[in-house]
Amino acid sequence: MAAVIHDMVIEGGRVVTPAGMIDADIAVTGGRITALGTGFAAAERVSATGLIVTPGGVDPHCHIEQMSGMGVMNADTFETATRSAAMGGTTTSISFAAQGPGQRLADTVADYAARAERGAAIDHAFHISIRDTGVPGFEEDLRALIAAGHRSVKVFTTYDIKLDDAAILDVLRITGEAGALTCIHAETDAILAEARARVLAHGKTAPKHHAEARPRAAEIDAVARMCRFAEVTGAPVMLFHISTAEAVAEITAARARGAPVWAETCPHYLFMTEEVLDKPGLEGAKWMCSPPQRTRSDQAALWRGLASGVLQIVSSDHAPYRFDASGKLSNGAEAPFPAIANGLPGLEPRLPLMFDAMVSGGRLGPVAFTEVTAARAARLYGLPGKGAIAPGFDADLVLWDPDRQRTYAADDLHDNVGYNPWEGTTVTGWPVATYLRGQAVMREGEYRGTAGAGRWTLRPGIGTRAADLTGAPA
Ligand SMILES: [Zn+2]
Repeated sequence: MAAVIHDMVIEGGRVVTPAGMIDADIAVTGGRITALGTGFAAAERVSATGLIVTPGGVDPHCHIEQMSGMGVMNADTFETATRSAAMGGTTTSISFAAQGPGQRLADTVADYAARAERGAAIDHAFHISIRDTGVPGFEEDLRALIAAGHRSVKVFTTYDIKLDDAAILDVLRITGEAGALTCIHAETDAILAEARARVLAHGKTAPKHHAEARPRAAEIDAVARMCRFAEVTGAPVMLFHISTAEAVAEITAARARGAPVWAETCPHYLFMTEEVLDKPGLEGAKWMCSPPQRTRSDQAALWRGLASGVLQIVSSDHAPYRFDASGKLSNGAEAPFPAIANGLPGLEPRLPLMFDAMVSGGRLGPVAFTEVTAARAARLYGLPGKGAIAPGFDADLVLWDPDRQRTYAADDLHDNVGYNPWEGTTVTGWPVATYLRGQAVMREGEYRGTAGAGRWTLRPGIGTRAADLTGAPA
């Protein structure tokens, strides 16, 4: 029998497969994983002795080269955001194609796709972010885009870009029929407006008051209502960036009723509390995001939600703004908190933070780590060939040194943000190489990616099945 010569073999590593961590070599040909085992012949051999190999991260919630809800352009281009992603082990992003005022959806997607094609160094897809359902050809465009492989949309219940309840139900009717997942930023706008007015009336304008002005009730109320919307329409929804224990309870109850509801949280809710906002001057603005960080008992509830499978995904919600007049301080160095852009960078540190907690720290373990950082997003959003180490999947791989410790410094992220919200945090376990479809895009801290080399991944269907509503993580 003639020996098969693979393009590459990654040998001697401990490989995290969907079934568990095994000692195996990974054979790669044509950018895909062809086999797991030993004794492969290959043109190129990469040693992974002493290393752990996981699937490349799939980050299904990141804002790239996008205007914020407050009208501020974010700091990252597709080139800088995806460079940063690759440096941290993420090989697929789903960012937003955000509809402009009055813009047809077909034009929105064409605009973002053209920019991503030029700049993105990792594979990518888009959620269509909808702000206006009254534009010409809305339903026709949306159905055509979904059929073409844009299997997710995003709607807001707050900010100027919010949809009213009737419009959200209309979107759900279309996405439910056409087979797309509707992602929702769920905070009730009226509760936020009332709280903000009350806080400002007391002269409280510093970033630390952002938390008080975004009460947990706003999230709880909107999450409960959106669960009912999913239930009555039968359309699957993904509740973004869950931050409170009560929202986890609402989602748990909705799923038990059979409502087609999925949900994610983010590292800044798992590892930070609202105290991060309490800094001198406007410094706390660096950590301002919406919803805000909460409390230790919320963190525990979020971890329980991940353990039970009620929360399926940990995304970054990468929302990059520089701490200068182009971003956080665009309304001046004295700006009250409502005039400061919300969001923090997270594409690059998401995987190391989660590896530290789940693999090094043993919280839920290595298979669950790959599920929440890659596999579930790939399945739910319908990304073919992504999110698992198995024959036939893309050779999107991260090699981790499980013993390497690293303390984040102020300037060691590779995005265009200029500060690191995780400065001073020490993680155990560090990505030493990232492969995208068999090509190294990072090795030993050196960026090797190419702007434009990422592929736009169209999605033939989504993976939201009623059977996935119950039971522990796969
Ligand atoms: Zn977001």
